[in-house]
Amino acid sequence: MDGLTSTATARPLAEPSALDHVVELTRSRDRGLVEESLISALVDLVDAREVTIWRLDPSGAADASAADVAQRGSWQRVTRRLAQTGDTASNPATAEATDATDAPAASRPEHLRCLREQVRVDVGQDLAGLHHVLLPMDSELEGGGVIELVLAQPIEPRDMRVATSMLRIHANFMHLLDYSERDTLTGLLNRKSFDETFLKATVLEARRQFAADGEQRRQGQPRHPYLGVIDVDHFKRVNDVHGHLIGDEVLVLVARIMRSALRSEDRLYRFGGEEFVVMLDASDDEGARAAFERLRLAVAAYEFPRAGHVTVSVGYVDVRPGDTPQAAFSRADTGVYHAKAHGRDQVVAYAALVAAGTVTESDGENDIVLF
Ligand code: GH3
Ligand code: MG
Ligand code: MG
Repeated sequence: MDGLTSTATARPLAEPSALDHVVELTRSRDRGLVEESLISALVDLVDAREVTIWRLDPSGAADASAADVAQRGSWQRVTRRLAQTGDTASNPATAEATDATDAPAASRPEHLRCLREQVRVDVGQDLAGLHHVLLPMDSELEGGGVIELVLAQPIEPRDMRVATSMLRIHANFMHLLDYSERDTLTGLLNRKSFDETFLKATVLEARRQFAADGEQRRQGQPRHPYLGVIDVDHFKRVNDVHGHLIGDEVLVLVARIMRSALRSEDRLYRFGGEEFVVMLDASDDEGARAAFERLRLAVAAYEFPRAGHVTVSVGYVDVRPGDTPQAAFSRADTGVYHAKAHGRDQVVAYAALVAAGTVTESDGENDIVLF
């Protein structure tokens, strides 16, 4: 049969090699795309029926103990890809839509062990006779997790080596990405990576508004991106009284407190100095306010080892389709400015200032008319 013959002769050329996969893996700086490439590589190179990435969501307990996470956290299936049955070389694997299935952390003890001890775990065969193997993803990375390979046969030692090498290349690449995208003092995302996230958020928001998403309607209210600017109050005083080093320590701790007050999917950036930015999704203004209030209160309640109590002022705004990072930032910063002028340690919505006539919007520019 013609079809079969041509497939067989074309295959050596069409089949991507491990090196092709490395090239593909390191081509993009988008973590989602990098992850997709990693999964494709694994499906291909170890002849897996299915490859899944699992992540442990600590459910707001970012700094909780390991035991706490095991109790309260849940496993999220973030990405899954099935190989098409039959010849995976001539029928490239097809991506399955990401389905965020939760499973309580303790319900998958093998996955927990794989992640915690950073070891490979052979789970054995399932009822269908398929072999499950778990591989750890570097837990120091934001994207740490567990990769589950499902195979028709027990994995060959050679394939295992290829899979672990591919994971190491992925981890190295993610470390490089982290290094270029993060602030060295606090470990938060830096200003440079903000623009990209912002662009993505506005594109998604535009799409969302254009065609109401069925999945979102099923899950409840649609969520919109919000941007918050956070500025530490009287930070110059901390430096003046305690010195720059203690000032730095306060910044590191403020970053950590804010991080644990937010959800894992919220993005927190250090914009330089004692200024931070948060991008988060909320169903409405009140939902966003609740998140920023939680963050403000967490900082205010903390007893800093040397500096005592420190507060932050927050301004926030909803991000609109077509917004530029500068315009949204500037609107939120108007909220910060207002908070500073009215006693600090508070959260101010830009929308509330507009509604109250405190600021007017003209051609996208904000004019403060009254304080
Ligand atoms: P306000 O409540 O009005 O925001 O007062 P402030 O003192 O926080 O504001 P100001 O912008 O005048 O001061 C910010 C200070 O932050 C000045 C600068 O020396 C200090 N600073 C900027 N970057 C760093 C840093 O990386 N480490 C430390 N320790 N201090 C920094
Ligand atoms: Mg300040
Ligand atoms: Mg400042």
